[in-house]
Amino acid sequence: MNATSNVYPTKALQALDAAHHIHPFTDTKELNAEGTRVITSAKGVWLTDSDGHKILDGMAGLWCVQIGHGREEIAEAVHKQMSELSYYNTFFKTSHPPIIELSEKLAKLAPEHMNRVFYCSSGSEANDTVFRMVRHYWDQMGKPEKKTIIGRWNGYHGSTLAGTSLGGMKAMHKQGDLPVPGVHHIDQPYWFGEGGDMNPEEFGVAMARQLDQAIDEIGEDNVGAFIAEPIQGAGGVIIPPDSYWPEIKRILSKRNILLVVDEVICGFGRLGKWFGSDVYGLEADLMPIAKGLTSGYLPMGGVLVSDRVAEGLIDKGGEFYHGYTYSGHPACAAAALANLEIMERENLVGYVADDIGPYLKQKWTALGDHPLVGEARMAGLVGAIELVPEKGNRSRTFDNEGTVGTICRDFSLKNGLVMRAVRDSLIISPPLVLSHDEADQLVEIARKTLDDTYEDLKRQNLI
Ligand SMILES: *Cc1c(COP(=O)(O)O)cnc(C)c1O
Repeated sequence: MNATSNVYPTKALQALDAAHHIHPFTDTKELNAEGTRVITSAKGVWLTDSDGHKILDGMAGLWCVQIGHGREEIAEAVHKQMSELSYYNTFFKTSHPPIIELSEKLAKLAPEHMNRVFYCSSGSEANDTVFRMVRHYWDQMGKPEKKTIIGRWNGYHGSTLAGTSLGGMKAMHKQGDLPVPGVHHIDQPYWFGEGGDMNPEEFGVAMARQLDQAIDEIGEDNVGAFIAEPIQGAGGVIIPPDSYWPEIKRILSKRNILLVVDEVICGFGRLGKWFGSDVYGLEADLMPIAKGLTSGYLPMGGVLVSDRVAEGLIDKGGEFYHGYTYSGHPACAAAALANLEIMERENLVGYVADDIGPYLKQKWTALGDHPLVGEARMAGLVGAIELVPEKGNRSRTFDNEGTVGTICRDFSLKNGLVMRAVRDSLIISPPLVLSHDEADQLVEIARKTLDDTYEDLKRQNLI
């Protein structure tokens, strides 16, 4: 405990939180019985809670704080913008300098064939926008029957109606009778969990070919788009086998449907290039973005639009009846511009590609030798470790999926590292400014956490 513990009375804050605050993606009854963790400040990759504990933020908030916490330049840029023009809309033939500057900037950073941006406030809204854009595009192109969008099981595209529907999280679908009509899901390229007897490359091709089969089944004339994350984030940092994206590209090259690449996590340097599309050579028609765009300092999302889609969406004329009060918010645009400026000045994308990415990967994948770990994988600065009851046997999983993952996650927090549990795997996505020393600490805590979990499972006869 240090001095800050006197400033924030944790118990009182927890009681008020339990009484009045409903948390997202949370069993509120369970949380209220346990008491929430109250984070009071953060700097760089370190969080401080109300009891004065320092915790390494291995998730960059929620995959978004690329430049690290507490950067004064962002606060100053936003302050300056708010003093000048705190808010104005972009609906009625109006615009403002920060959003004009940001749009030009994004067009420069994005793949060459993408030159326009539609703004919103989150990744979920970006995917709701995608849903409406795909359908409107095909209407404009005189093919109104091309309405079905193909997504993937265990993909994540947000939590609104369209986001949940496009995503493939079955537990989310169950609540609210989703997906909405017109969405179809194919299997994910998750070799460790679902690859069976196939080797990764065979499995990657087989999963990609499900897209071809689905298009044939539904009829190419009825399919508007395929949506996917370059690497699945919330689904458990699922890095597709090398054969997957080339086969998807081959299939799409013969088909007249749009490709939507959800860059909400992979965009803005996470994989060592500006976009996941750059890593896999994908020519997206629409790219939803959010998270790293502002490093989470203010909420902002958007959809990058290809020249091909612009032909239907813009050149054919007519109003697109879609938008948000906060589309292109000036303060958020100022935060995004300052964030991108820092990323460029500090060459964070290159740092992930050539320095901290390979450095952390080498140490992280070495955790694969732990008796509890079936696989440790990493790409850019996202990684996962799969916990297994029997090393070397991918088909055996723990009973009551998620129990062991949660035990391990709780040890990690206690040991001073935020990792997130997905099923019985642990995932990380640290800020891109992570230093070598911090990377060493991260892996050291992760190893201690695995040891603690292993001992605990033995004690409880779970292994
Ligand atoms: C987080 C996420 C979203 C949703 O973004 P929100 O800002 O939480 O609405 C959409 N797609 C992907 C790939 C994400 O990781």
